[in-house]
Amino acid sequence: VASRETKPDATVVKVRDLVVGGGHIGVIAGPCSVESEEQIILAAKKVKEAGAKALRGGAYKPRTSPYAFQGMKEEGLKLLAAARDVTGLAVVTEVMTPHHVETVVKYADVLQVGARNMQNYHLLQAVGETRTPVLLKRGLSSTMEEFLLAAEYILDQGNQQVMLCERGIRTFETHTRFTLPLASVPYLKQKTHLPVVIDPSHGTGIASLVPPMCRAAVACGADGLIVEVHPDPKEAISDASQTISPEVFAEALVECRRVAHAL
Ligand code: PEP
Ligand code: MN
Repeated sequence: VASRETKPDATVVKVRDLVVGGGHIGVIAGPCSVESEEQIILAAKKVKEAGAKALRGGAYKPRTSPYAFQGMKEEGLKLLAAARDVTGLAVVTEVMTPHHVETVVKYADVLQVGARNMQNYHLLQAVGETRTPVLLKRGLSSTMEEFLLAAEYILDQGNQQVMLCERGIRTFETHTRFTLPLASVPYLKQKTHLPVVIDPSHGTGIASLVPPMCRAAVACGADGLIVEVHPDPKEAISDASQTISPEVFAEALVECRRVAHAL
């Protein structure tokens, strides 16, 4: 169902002012985690000012250590909805288990399926049963075929609003947190009609590499970006080292617009 052969025209995911695909580059930005009302509202205002059309923020966090901050859960979802009320931005947030889908859809405009859950087939089916757009992240060690078959689980339930997100993979390389293969963009776009979003934050793990990889993503034809931005990056509770400030983010988008209009 995801194949270009079954549907030659590009799928365009639209929710509120976020448009991803069909020549539109949709920008999603915000902190890794929702931390407080003040933090998420300020982040929302700042990323909107810079040009983002959707706010990201994790309320249920898949953390490597069970002792690390696990997210604000439903309280965090309420704060995301409050930030949407203030700014009008669409809300993108992760759902980690089929049991939470019913709760998360009440607040989210886009359901994020995280890399660690890319092959959680019951979760894929559960988000597929909704009619809320889904951002499906590539598994840490998944092949393109596995990625596409995961998307297929969602499409098969009748939810056609699926975005594929390349967020980097595990390799032998350690200079970056993950290795971000940008060839995924043209490859997936040749193979499928689904829009492709790049996550340069998890893809590199290093804040200074995020703006150049935003530009590179736009240059190779990405339909969207999802970027970790925090009002005070060094104070971010999760993923501080890959998080950029609203000012750096705003400048990165200016540079992306230059790339998009280059030549
Ligand atoms: C995130 O977006 O904060 C996140 C946990 O992403 P991933 O699932 O790609 O690691
Ligand atoms: Mn993160």
